[in-house]
Amino acid sequence: MFDALAEKIQSAIGKIAKKGRIDEETLNKGLREIKLALLEADVNYKVVSDFIKDIKEKALGAKVTKGVTAVQQLVKIVHDELVKTLGEKAEPLNLKSKPSVILLIGLQGSGKTTTSAKLAKLLKKQGKKVLLTSVDIYRPAAMLQLKKLGEQISVPVFLEENEKDAAKIAEDALKKAKKEGYDVLIVDTAGRLHIDEEMLKEAKEIKERIHPDEVLFVSDAMTGQEAVNIAKAFDENVGMTGIVLTKLDSDARGGVALSVKGVTGKPIKFAGVGEKIDDFEPFYPDRVASRILGMGDVVSLVEKAQEVIDEEEALSMQEKLLSGEFTLEDFKKQLEMIQRMGPIKQLIKMIPGLSSQKMLKQLDKAIDDKKLKRIEAIINSMTPEERRNHAIINASRKRRIARGSGTSVKDVDALLKQFAQAKMMMKQMKKMQKKMAKKGGKF
Ligand code: GDP
Repeated sequence: MFDALAEKIQSAIGKIAKKGRIDEETLNKGLREIKLALLEADVNYKVVSDFIKDIKEKALGAKVTKGVTAVQQLVKIVHDELVKTLGEKAEPLNLKSKPSVILLIGLQGSGKTTTSAKLAKLLKKQGKKVLLTSVDIYRPAAMLQLKKLGEQISVPVFLEENEKDAAKIAEDALKKAKKEGYDVLIVDTAGRLHIDEEMLKEAKEIKERIHPDEVLFVSDAMTGQEAVNIAKAFDENVGMTGIVLTKLDSDARGGVALSVKGVTGKPIKFAGVGEKIDDFEPFYPDRVASRILGMGDVVSLVEKAQEVIDEEEALSMQEKLLSGEFTLEDFKKQLEMIQRMGPIKQLIKMIPGLSSQKMLKQLDKAIDDKKLKRIEAIINSMTPEERRNHAIINASRKRRIARGSGTSVKDVDALLKQFAQAKMMMKQMKKMQKKMAKKGGKF
């Protein structure tokens, strides 16, 4: 997510940091670089100009705060400006009516149907009784797709395959939702490959006939400024209450995320971050800003961790890790915890210090999820004693472990070496933590 933009902005700030002191010339140079980075990321020109102007004013007018370096202060200013550009705060859905109706609009392929199911699952998890419907009268395949997704997440899908009036299907779905006590009705509409009048007219008519509480425009983040123009057209012709930005997982630039609020005035409410149903989250401007600046996303990390990890277990593990006293048994437990939390590369991006682009590149080479599975298999093939004390693992034990785990002695050797290195790294991290605490920040 936003990797290319993050790399450039971090590099610009890094250069300013090297100077140690921020005078107007250094600031101007740095801001020019940030401006270029934003334009390359396909952010709307006016949004970029305002962004740079605001930062400059704030940076030059900022009073020096004790205990904070000028660069830290600048990072904070850039962070706040990013948050503002991304939409200030998370905007929850308005679900006060019963049933509440959510209408999804957007171009074909933007991710509407997938998003309908993702949203349905999210609301179902919150205890809501959800009904889905597709009013795409042009593509029977689209209705079928929603039906299948509904089955996957056990959410009923209302369909009228032979009805040729899209708004009528929406009305009938709403009647059913009312009659059967649903909390939320999600309506997936037909899109076209390009913006066209008929599509806008149809969306508008559906909207007028079912009075949705939310009209969410689904936008493909990969399509850049075009997506922002389309959002504007939909807003002007149909009207919307918010935006769902899909495919953020594949968007290295961030242009749409950073422009769409500024251009349409409408908030991004959700982000699609993968093809799977669970790859969906509320959009938190402050967390995204932190990620772009390589400050990690501690809040998301903590929340994710809380979902799957027992806090006490995690704390005792942390102590062990940092003391350098952990064994292969602990190493395995740690791996299990990490795997419960999801793909490791995504997690690392959330950890401050590890989330800078330079660090990520190094880690990318070293870590992948398949490797983790292999490591786990090797540790599983060890006896408890071997796990507690890896020093006893001699050549014949290595052969046995390799056989048991379907790996080679070389793999076992590599793991033992890696384990020793990890122990060392943990010790260094502890030292680094102390140092950072003294300095009070990353720079
Ligand atoms: P629709 O035509 O607007 O209903 O779009 P679909 O829901 O059929 O999605 C089009 C394609 O985008 C499908 O292949 C989806 O799997 C994919 N897609 C949707 N959302 C995301 C997302 O957040 N990330 C990624 N990587 N792919 C997505």
